[in-house]
Amino acid sequence: MGSVRPACEHVFAAYAPVRPGEERPRTRRERQVGVDDRPRDGNPAFDRQDWLAGRLPNGSVGAEVACPRCGGPRHRLADLPPEYLYLLGLYLGDGCISAHPRGVYKLRLFFDAGYPQIIDAGEAAVRSVLPANRINRLHRSGGFANSAPRSNVELSVYSKSLPCLFPQHGPGRKHERRIILDEWQRALVAKHPEHLLRGLIHSDGCRFMNTGRNWRHPRYSFSNQSEDIRRIFCNACVLVGVRWTTAPRTVYVSRVRDVAVLDEFIGPKR
Ligand SMILES: [Zn+2]
Repeated sequence: MGSVRPACEHVFAAYAPVRPGEERPRTRRERQVGVDDRPRDGNPAFDRQDWLAGRLPNGSVGAEVACPRCGGPRHRLADLPPEYLYLLGLYLGDGCISAHPRGVYKLRLFFDAGYPQIIDAGEAAVRSVLPANRINRLHRSGGFANSAPRSNVELSVYSKSLPCLFPQHGPGRKHERRIILDEWQRALVAKHPEHLLRGLIHSDGCRFMNTGRNWRHPRYSFSNQSEDIRRIFCNACVLVGVRWTTAPRTVYVSRVRDVAVLDEFIGPKR
């Protein structure tokens, strides 16, 4: 029996060696408090058959599956849901990531309190990307001396994985550093450009009425100080077949046909 034990089985024998089928006796304290949380080779649900089959215990991270950046389980970035791109758009438009102790990062997204549906969509997008993490919603003033109280909403979430999910994180302000999408992000955008455009417009864009002497047409604009982020917006417009024009720091989508395309998945802010 013992001859078939893999040589590396000691990896899970973090406590006193226990033969299969045996259990370590409960300690005096465990008997006193009535708990039975004895570690059984690290994971009660994990048994010898699992080990022989090459499976890993839940929550364990082997060196071959760990993310080299955050140490968590390796991310399946290509499998992220389309909502990730909406979140990316919100982050690029009006979000920031800050470093906290012990390798934890905080993502903050800023919203106008007058658009509750956008805030809800932002929260749903965070949840779809980080389903196990608590999302905080904070009402605050707009940051200007004349801002009304509670005119802004800040959504925030903590995670060690944020720099892996948003490799555009870096020191300084976004418009003062290069912002280039990673290859896996560009592949996702190629599949779902409308989600990124929606996030970008919902954060740093708007849809407004353009008027002339005898005409009135809706028009979209996207304003961002970063030329890189404006280029990301324009590239996504190409993917949905929409033309744009540029002004300093602003991109406009004005043709009736192009506005109609954006209206299919963006529309007025609410
Ligand atoms: Zn990671």
